[in-house]
Amino acid sequence: MNNDSIYLDHAASTPVDPQVVEAMLPYFSEIYGNASGMHQQARGSAQALDRARQTVAGVLNCAPNEVVFTACGTESDNLAIRGAAFAQKLAGRGRHLITTPIEHHAVSHTINQLCDKFGFEQTVVPVDEYGIVNPADVAAAIRPDTVLISVMYANNEVGSVQPISEIGEIARERSIPFHTDAVQAAAYRPLDVEALNVDLLAISGHKIYAPKGVGVLYVRQNTPLLPTLTGGSHENNRRPGTENVPYIAGIAKALELVDSHRTGENPRQAGLRDRLVKGVLTSIPNSQLTGHPVNRLPNNASFVFDGCEADTILMHLDMAGIQAASGSACTSGMPEPSHVLQAMGLPHQLALSALRLSLGRQTTAADIDRVLAALPDIIAKIRQTDF
Ligand code: PLP
Repeated sequence: MNNDSIYLDHAASTPVDPQVVEAMLPYFSEIYGNASGMHQQARGSAQALDRARQTVAGVLNCAPNEVVFTACGTESDNLAIRGAAFAQKLAGRGRHLITTPIEHHAVSHTINQLCDKFGFEQTVVPVDEYGIVNPADVAAAIRPDTVLISVMYANNEVGSVQPISEIGEIARERSIPFHTDAVQAAAYRPLDVEALNVDLLAISGHKIYAPKGVGVLYVRQNTPLLPTLTGGSHENNRRPGTENVPYIAGIAKALELVDSHRTGENPRQAGLRDRLVKGVLTSIPNSQLTGHPVNRLPNNASFVFDGCEADTILMHLDMAGIQAASGSACTSGMPEPSHVLQAMGLPHQLALSALRLSLGRQTTAADIDRVLAALPDIIAKIRQTDF
């Protein structure tokens, strides 16, 4: 790994915080019992699990038994959506789902499968040119047989933050369960589930400086939820499988840290991000910011550069020691333009030129200077070669 390189892909994944590693270490080889057992080792693991659940509940402002640990953000989204949809259908409440066109595939592909294979129907409410959903459109889409609303908290490609609390209020008035994918928002936005009016909220470890392969799903008391996995009675009968105690201790510590870092890190990263955005827009002709100019995650700077191909920009940046992404990590490499940018109304060709620079805790002013020194020449060179 080149030590001089700059990492600006925190929306794809973050390094594990040393304090998180420290919190995990005892649960690999010292305290390793199966938390369901009846002996000292098992009790050690069970206690760690209890502590982690309490920590997460403290950050989310919920009861500990409303916290379900999962294996990733994708699993949390799947359990929330499929679990609620099937439980509602079994109770005879209906089969209509409401969502947006900018969701992560963990949400949209789950809903698509419910519709294509299991008889559900969906209304996809539009977003505006900044990628923001209007709560009135969600209200207008509600039908007597609506059984779930799913709107992401903040978008992974352009960072736009949604009016979750307002949408939640609308859902609550009609007694419709409301799910939000908070995977990208978790490091930067408040996660108080009461203030947000949500019933289901998904978090992923590796976006908040915990390891890959661990997630959280908040499930409000009495929310209909059919488990998607079957097995033991773990996680209050909602998610079977022997608990991954070290990773659970890790995600709990990471949540505690992001919660305490927010007041300092949000303005610091937003300041660097604003300098980056301003620098790019003033020094590169025909460049455009994507997503909302203000109502966006403090670490997200995303652009389109007319006349360039995203992969070519990424290749040149990588050669200059700058690691970035073209949009969603899960879709980069595919020639199709991002569904998010298309939903925001960007023309097909322009949407193929997307660059996402996502900052993190270790990003410095010197990193931003280096990007601003390198990017204008890279874009100019690509435009000369390609056209
Ligand atoms: N939801 C959003 C908004 C994401 O950005 C991601 C990851 O990129 C996920 C869900 C999936 O999380 P995980 O990688 O933990 O499965």
